[in-house]
Amino acid sequence: MRFVVIGAGMSGILAAIRLREAGYDDVVVYEKADRPGGTWRENTYPGLSCDVPSHFYSYSFALNPDWSRRYSPGAEIQAYFTGVAKRYGVTDRTRFGKEIVRCAFEDGRWHLTANDGATDVADVVIAATGVLHHPKMPEIEGLETFAGAAFHSARWDHSVPIDGRRVGVVGTGSSAVQIVTAITDRVGQLVLFQRTPQWIMPAQNPAYGDEEKASFRAHPEAMEEIRRATAQQFCDGFANIVGETDSPILQAMHDMCVAHLESSVHDPELREKLRPSYRAACKRLVIADGFYEAIQRPNARLVTDGVARVEPAGVRTKDGTLYPLDVLVLATGFQVDWFVRPMQVTGRGGVRLDDLWAHGATAYLSMTVPGFPNFFMLNGPNGPVGNFSLIEVAELQFDYVLKLVDELRRGACRELAPSAEAMARFDAERREAAKKTIWNTGCRSWYLDETGLPTAWPFTFDRFRNEMAAPRLEDYERR
Ligand code: NAP
Repeated sequence: MRFVVIGAGMSGILAAIRLREAGYDDVVVYEKADRPGGTWRENTYPGLSCDVPSHFYSYSFALNPDWSRRYSPGAEIQAYFTGVAKRYGVTDRTRFGKEIVRCAFEDGRWHLTANDGATDVADVVIAATGVLHHPKMPEIEGLETFAGAAFHSARWDHSVPIDGRRVGVVGTGSSAVQIVTAITDRVGQLVLFQRTPQWIMPAQNPAYGDEEKASFRAHPEAMEEIRRATAQQFCDGFANIVGETDSPILQAMHDMCVAHLESSVHDPELREKLRPSYRAACKRLVIADGFYEAIQRPNARLVTDGVARVEPAGVRTKDGTLYPLDVLVLATGFQVDWFVRPMQVTGRGGVRLDDLWAHGATAYLSMTVPGFPNFFMLNGPNGPVGNFSLIEVAELQFDYVLKLVDELRRGACRELAPSAEAMARFDAERREAAKKTIWNTGCRSWYLDETGLPTAWPFTFDRFRNEMAAPRLEDYERR
């Protein structure tokens, strides 16, 4: 069987490694950029780090004794993925600079076309195209008229000097919080344009010393134990209780965020501007240290009046004030509902995934779609994307995919896709459960679809683990 993996980010690298381990030799990876790394290649903004502890945000088979901190910086994470890809021979099997733009199921196989016209044929496609990938530019009048430099947080322009200059940041998500924390003491003036305040959970970020690293190297089981314990903490403390909005644990989390705000911000007026009116963890919880200190520096200003438009000189807010700026950073998030798109995917009978997803992307157990045989998505729609390690999610998903693929290998069938009935059942149950989650308690966030319903895995993480442990073959149409 020939496999094509689309994307050489975290989950594409994983898929390529695991396929080879499982004895599948005909595996090729397509990557549109010139290097692996996915989101960690694209994001290079100052202060970039991962708020999932590094020993948990690592592949289970490639633990890293050299992580510098509990939450390591982005460049280190990118180096980790590049290193793993090289060490496991993924880089050699990747065709860089080739973006797959079309993927069509015809005559029992997948026919792929790249942006340069190159074609390929595969029996199985693993779409590892990422979630937080395509920048979402805000629709702000006059943005193109700005005389200074304006760029999205995921497209940081390092040729633009920021030291001593007037820098505006739009947004208050995880990206903006990390950026503001990192640059405020470097810039001349920092203006943060906040549409909605965020709850921020404090995070201690100690460095690992040389002795600790040596000990991890000598005793890898210590890293395994940290990974196991952190996973358990994240499950018990969040991923297992997203559907229990009256959980005392969620309340304790809220209280911690309130205490963080109240003990950190001294000016009552600023404190109230920074106080969200919704519950902690309704939006994706920001976990960070130092933001409140940064925003209280004399050169920082929090603006809550709402952006009216951008002018050549800066940003004008709805109250008529002009904030003159040299640089404008748009930390405005991602097109989270694109998934494999803009790639054109057509399944059996020429059905377009775009049409199927016209009112929101869905997938059976977040990986497969009826009518799209042998097409598997990692971190696809409706998966567990909360405050959790997406590596853990992708590893569990891929173990499941391998079990399905083994059905093809042993000749039980040639085409495998979820039944429409299984998809409908899963989707109905997911929708019902989504209404009862913490994400549906009165805030706007990227977790919500266009109707306002949370799209992420609304069940416990334990259930996800159980589902991934063994496919229910009766839910698949096998031909
Ligand atoms: P985000 O959470 O989607 O935040 C976007 C921000 O931009 C929000 O504050 C939003 O305001 C604001 N915004 C969007 N359009 C606007 C407009 N037209 N005018 C004014 N404000 C506007 O994006 P993100 O910060 O890039 O984070 C996305 C996700 O990436 C995170 O939730 C997280 O999962 C991941 N991430 C993780 C880390 C990490 O440490 N692990 C770091 C960075 C990112 P509203 O709130 O009012 O909508």
